[in-house]
Amino acid sequence: MNPLRSLILAAAGNEAVRRAVASAPLSRDVVRRFVAGETVASAVDVTGDLVENGLRVTLDYLGEDTTDRAQAERTVQAYLALLDQLHDVGLAADAEVSVKLSAVGQALDERLALDNASRVCAAAEQAGTTVTLDMEDHTTTDSTLRVLEELRRAWPSTGAVLQAYLRRTLDDCVALAGTRVRLCKGAYAEPASVAYADPHEVDLNYVRCANALLAGGGYPMFATHDPRLIEIVGERARWYGRSVEDFEFQMLYGVRPTEQRRLAAEGHVVRVYVPFGEQWYGYLMRRLAERPANVAFFLRSLVSRS
Ligand SMILES: Cc1cc2nc3c(=O)[nH]c(=O)nc-3n(C[C@H](O)[C@H](O)[C@H](O)COP(=O)(O)OP(=O)(O)OC[C@H]3O[C@@H](n4cnc5c(N)ncnc54)[C@H](O)[C@@H]3O)c2cc1C
Repeated sequence: MNPLRSLILAAAGNEAVRRAVASAPLSRDVVRRFVAGETVASAVDVTGDLVENGLRVTLDYLGEDTTDRAQAERTVQAYLALLDQLHDVGLAADAEVSVKLSAVGQALDERLALDNASRVCAAAEQAGTTVTLDMEDHTTTDSTLRVLEELRRAWPSTGAVLQAYLRRTLDDCVALAGTRVRLCKGAYAEPASVAYADPHEVDLNYVRCANALLAGGGYPMFATHDPRLIEIVGERARWYGRSVEDFEFQMLYGVRPTEQRRLAAEGHVVRVYVPFGEQWYGYLMRRLAERPANVAFFLRSLVSRS
């Protein structure tokens, strides 16, 4: 593993480092740039600001690796409270929620995760919005797609996520091309037996998968900050006769905010993935560990907001 990545991940597990990052005034600013606070109220405030700037939102309550039912229940309650508030302030049409099945009990029992995710989907429908199921490491892909299929029986607009780094994903894209699908590169450390290791191979597969989704009759959501892929997807979308309402771009909160606004100003639908909640520390550290370039970005963002 890249030594910088190991160092950051080691720091991520260190309580003293966590406290230092959480309390230092400068790093608090950086945290605020990537995470929309710890509470539902702060997440709704950030959503309001983004929507005012012409962006749409998907909200993620941070809390993976749920190891007991009580914790899964707290996650469900956070989503229910969030959906209530989004509805009350009139933001539900522009904001959906992203749910990690691991946060609602997948590791304990797939049925529990399905029941909990169903409660979130029902609340989302009542609020006037929908849910996308985040995709996690490859050992959970089949289980997540099974749960998705069940959820779609009652809530057909439930979004799937497929990861271009997995060798299986082109087949999954073909199978799900008639539905709502987010395509991302993939964020987990995966073995070469299941995933492309070479970033160029991942990009090539992203384009193949994008073609498959654009050729289908569904609603593709292209989650990437990669300028080359954004350009290629835009060209391919035109080639497939897609209007700007027929697909969207997605980026993370705090990452390339100027590009988010530029694409929105061009008429594209741009959805920002907004994480919030008390467990922000692991999320932030994973973003930094993802690529050495992200650390430079983190350091740059201490002095710049462009
Ligand atoms: C909305 C959204 C939802 C996601 N959901 C999931 C999920 O459910 N499951 C999952 O496994 N992963 C998910 N991801 C993460 C994703 O898989 C990638 O790990 C992450 O987006 C980085 O990949 P990238 O496509 O941005 O390209 P990268 O290969 O990281 O970067 C490519 C290029 O993009 C530009 N770029 C990237 N980051 C920055 C930056 N910080 N500042 C400036 N330029 C930058 C640079 O030019 C860089 O060379 C999601 C990502 C997004 C945006």
